[in-house]
Amino acid sequence: MSSPVAFLDLGTAHAAIRPELDAVWHNAVDRNGFVGGEPVVKFEEDFARYTGSRFCIGVSNGTDALELILAGLDIGPGDEVIVPTNTFIATAEAVVRAGATPVFVDVDPVTALITGDHVRAALTERTAAVMAVHLYGQMVNMTDLLAVTEPAGVAVIEDAAQAHGATWEGAPAGSLGVAAGFSFYPGKNLGAFGDGGAVTTGDERLAERIRSTANHGRSSTSKYEHDLLGRNARLDSLQAAILRIKLGELDSWNKARREVAGLYDVKLGGHVVPFAEADRAASVYHLYVIRCVGVTRDAVGEALDRNGIGWGIHYPIPCHLQAPFRSAATPVIDVAEQQAPQLLSLPMHPHLTADEIDRVCGVINELDGR
Ligand SMILES: *Cc1c(COP(=O)(O)O)cnc(C)c1O
Repeated sequence: MSSPVAFLDLGTAHAAIRPELDAVWHNAVDRNGFVGGEPVVKFEEDFARYTGSRFCIGVSNGTDALELILAGLDIGPGDEVIVPTNTFIATAEAVVRAGATPVFVDVDPVTALITGDHVRAALTERTAAVMAVHLYGQMVNMTDLLAVTEPAGVAVIEDAAQAHGATWEGAPAGSLGVAAGFSFYPGKNLGAFGDGGAVTTGDERLAERIRSTANHGRSSTSKYEHDLLGRNARLDSLQAAILRIKLGELDSWNKARREVAGLYDVKLGGHVVPFAEADRAASVYHLYVIRCVGVTRDAVGEALDRNGIGWGIHYPIPCHLQAPFRSAATPVIDVAEQQAPQLLSLPMHPHLTADEIDRVCGVINELDGR
């Protein structure tokens, strides 16, 4: 058997910048600074600029980022928050942790994303916000979404955990909603060496509130005064310094991911259908997800396994069918339920070679149809 094809390859990405990454640890030990301080401030400045946002607050992880945004907007008990059912469960967890009620909606069959129409149909008097999940690396159609939410006075919160660097009509993820939550889980397009996250927003009051809440409600002017009831949800200095170095590589890594996706798009045969990139969007392909239509997912998975090719499923069970949410009232969801058994994620990372992509496509194209 030829050599395996990795689903994700952090090793190659880190090897190229290894001396800089290693120096982070030495600097931290030299300074004995581990929480907050200059590395966090610098990263926040850089990431605010990168996302076209006025403010960035480094936080503990992407789930906390979303929960802090909801709480910062006073969204809680009695409020409904619209969530696409095809997402990582953290989007819905954050809503419940904030005390609000997730209302799951279906997704578009061609992009796998929530649309303005889905949101319009789910609006009630209690709707306070929509989680615009930029899934798989592609931004939601924000023009249509905002046209529905703005007249209704509903906040759009971007879940940009899979979309660092993605754009909608040239505007970066994190710049179009009231606020956005990012995750720096190691496998994301921009990943830390552990957990990490960030909030971006253009709203100064919200930014201050989130910054304080994530740091024990501490006053911005007095270390020993606590203005509000907070918690500990900070980004640590080591992670911030690592992220700052990796942010410098992100555009070239995202470009390479788009090239990989372009090759998959032309080389994959008719057994499988990729999700489409909208004309006005530029995806950063956190994942390359196909639907198995002319063959079963099991057949594709087994063939990939036999050939040492990594794969995954994002996500096999829509959120509204997961145990914590099964009893909740949910509108009709056809597309996500019908597509969930077909979904399969192929190897996707910036260092995948043309030869590896050929092998993956060859294995799938050689399968007999069902
Ligand atoms: C990863 C992810 C999150 C959660 O981020 P963590 O840093 O793991 O807490 C939220 N939403 C989506 C869509 C994600 O992919």
